[in-house]
Amino acid sequence: MTRLLHRALKTPPMAVSAEGITFTDAGGKTYIDACGGAAVSCLGHGHPDVLAAIHRQADQVAYAHTGFFTTEAAEGLGERLVADAPEGISHAYLVSGGSEAVEAALKMARQYFAEKGETQRRHVIARRQSYHGNTLGALAVGGNEWRRAQFRPLLMEAHHIAPCYAYREQRQTESDAEYAVRAAGELEAKIEELGAENVIAFVAEPVVGATAGAVPPVADYFKRIREICDRNGILLILDEVMCGMGRTGTLHACEQEGIAPDLMTIAKGLGGGYQPIGAVLLNEKIHDAFAQGSGFFQHGHTYMGHPMAAAAALAVQEVIARDDLLANVRAMGAYLRERLEDAFGQHANVGDVRGRGLFQAIELVADRETKAPFDPAAKLNKHIKAQAMERGLMVYPMGGTIDGVHGDHVLLAPPFVVGREDVDTIVARLSDAVDAALAEVAA
Ligand code: PMP
Repeated sequence: MTRLLHRALKTPPMAVSAEGITFTDAGGKTYIDACGGAAVSCLGHGHPDVLAAIHRQADQVAYAHTGFFTTEAAEGLGERLVADAPEGISHAYLVSGGSEAVEAALKMARQYFAEKGETQRRHVIARRQSYHGNTLGALAVGGNEWRRAQFRPLLMEAHHIAPCYAYREQRQTESDAEYAVRAAGELEAKIEELGAENVIAFVAEPVVGATAGAVPPVADYFKRIREICDRNGILLILDEVMCGMGRTGTLHACEQEGIAPDLMTIAKGLGGGYQPIGAVLLNEKIHDAFAQGSGFFQHGHTYMGHPMAAAAALAVQEVIARDDLLANVRAMGAYLRERLEDAFGQHANVGDVRGRGLFQAIELVADRETKAPFDPAAKLNKHIKAQAMERGLMVYPMGGTIDGVHGDHVLLAPPFVVGREDVDTIVARLSDAVDAALAEVAA
């Protein structure tokens, strides 16, 4: 009997070992990790260099409170993150995960304006199709109604605009450029409605992860978003917790949009799951406002800058750079996409195949022509997950509701070390699992 409260209240299989891209459970069954958990395990499991770095750090200093000490591991990670960051980023703030990073970024944005005497600013704008974490602030700005609904009375006020979701929201008569203008135009209209002087920031995931499955923006959408934020004097926070740290083929997803944020959140692939870690990357003007104002950021957590987490993340990032794994993300990402198109491109119940790098997804529909989704009560995504696990495959299926439209998606985010044969096996098992799940739902 388990004494743990599990997510689904049902005890999942017991993992007893994990190496490379494979998990083994207590019964000896193996599973290919094709989603890195939730796009976390970018290096795969049991990497000796990362384990050695964690051991070294444990021997040296396992924990030091940042109110008393800094450590070589935390300083080294900060140096590395800033050196590789988008233009203007000057500092990193280390926390323990994605939600903590989002909370810290929201408070940094508010304090930035407070330091400048603009204390009337209180509005944050985000998008309906988004997930920014499960803590109350992050949940408030997130747009996933399923996760928010019963907690709504506890959530701070936040404002939501339409996502950039070409498959469902781009009109047939509209070019990408026209759609980018219309979708980004919603931000301008919302800022105008709230009064630019009252707005703190706009928050968005460059490639949407956990609400809709690897939805990339259309070209120039984020260029316009950046320009609208600048013109109205509000901050741009990019949440790259899921899509960042190499997942899409460049270290940061925003590089492919040709923009830099004021604040950026990262987690998941930062430590690759070897330790819990996240970070906020902030630009110089935010750091300067704190330095010239109160002299500190009014925030903090007991485990921020944790040396073992920092050492693990530094090692993960060093291996990715040393082994040029982003080249493999691009090559295997393209191959995975090709194989997904082969398997699902003409499938009667797959409406869209999309993504970037090793961050790819399929969207399931009851009818390809009308794009009608499956009845949420059928819980197709749960059937797919069970059928995939049965076949020794970990994928990340989700159901979501965007503007009243339910969608079932399967997200794939395999480790960056995945090879061609692995991709073939992943797609073959997924294809079987999807068909078996569809048959179950139809029955
Ligand atoms: N932001 C995004 C974009 C995410 O995908 C997630 C996690 N799925 C979070 C924030 C929250 O991160 P965590 O679960 O580490 O708190």
